[in-house]
Amino acid sequence: MNKMNIPLLDLKAQYYSIKEELRASVEQVLESGQYIMGPFVKKFEEEIADYCNTKYAIGVANGTDALLLTLDALGIGSGDEVITTPFTFFASSEVISKVGATPVFVDIDPLTYNIDVNKIEDAITEKTKAIIPVHIFGQPVNFGAIKEIADKYNLHIVEDACQAIGSKYKGRQAGSLGIAGCFSFFPTKNLGGYGDGGIVVTDDEQLAQKIQVLRVHGSNPKYYHSMVGYNSRLDALQAAMLSVKLKYIDAWNQKRAEKANFYNIILKDTPLVLPFCEEENQHVYHLYIVQTDYRQELMDYLKEHGIDTGVYYPVPLHLQEVYNNLGYKKGAFPISEQMAERTFALPLFPEISNKQQEYVAEKIKMFYKKKGEL
Ligand SMILES: *Cc1c(COP(=O)(O)O)cnc(C)c1O
Repeated sequence: MNKMNIPLLDLKAQYYSIKEELRASVEQVLESGQYIMGPFVKKFEEEIADYCNTKYAIGVANGTDALLLTLDALGIGSGDEVITTPFTFFASSEVISKVGATPVFVDIDPLTYNIDVNKIEDAITEKTKAIIPVHIFGQPVNFGAIKEIADKYNLHIVEDACQAIGSKYKGRQAGSLGIAGCFSFFPTKNLGGYGDGGIVVTDDEQLAQKIQVLRVHGSNPKYYHSMVGYNSRLDALQAAMLSVKLKYIDAWNQKRAEKANFYNIILKDTPLVLPFCEEENQHVYHLYIVQTDYRQELMDYLKEHGIDTGVYYPVPLHLQEVYNNLGYKKGAFPISEQMAERTFALPLFPEISNKQQEYVAEKIKMFYKKKGEL
């Protein structure tokens, strides 16, 4: 095939497909004169709560704040420990540190890249208050097993569902499983805005009310402050545009799954380790992650042929410089460390064509042929 240029993600293709609707929604907000909170935010919150089958949804400034305000509202802070995975974006543990608690890491399952539920109990101490499972790359964690542990030790489960909107565990929406679920609308996420945005979903009335107060400087009513809070609201403009996009999320996620399945077929005979999806899960393939012995070399080779790839994530969190003080050594979580060296993402987005995917597969096969492994 002739040389093609294939981005890891093509945000513009999606924008063009809904351009007129987006423009109309922006126009409505601009005409309304209400740019902070107001009817567009309220409408989107109701739509998300409805989509996730939860009683409440509280829009906030980004996915990190969704996690942060939730931990704060649950009263988690200094002296507490919160369990999470080291194989995730930094925000998952950053928020634990930010409220003054200590992140406690647990290694991952080598097939799903999600937290290894068999290793959680060993990490629990008197100080453990919560678990933050991350539905990494768009596949839900084994929630049943985590729930059993959380119930036994009386721990909160706060789901980091930032990569997994629309994915399902045993038919239930990711984000609706724990006490709270946190989503990000960062532009590259499956439901991405045109700037930052985030939301918390929950069935817990008290928690919902507290987050609603926290996001406006801890005040209710305005100028009467019962808590030290945040300035963390979802912009009306983002909410209006996200309302438009929410209508398409299931179709887009379905497309991602179809494209992932196509890669699974056309890459089947290569030495790459392909994604594994548990039967009980509906995976939304935020990222299509593969493993290879030759990561840098293969990524460079694909780049030479116009194909963008990405590494998620190169340094597991327990080995981040900022966490030197936690005392984790190299070797503490061998699976996470190994995957941080072996995995990378191939281009995947709802609009990618079969032809583009075939080109990617062809170049991967050429690479392995040169290595004498195919
Ligand atoms: C994107 C992401 C976040 C943070 O979301 P922001 O909106 O960028 O703050 C948190 N956790 C995970 C797993 C993410 O992928």
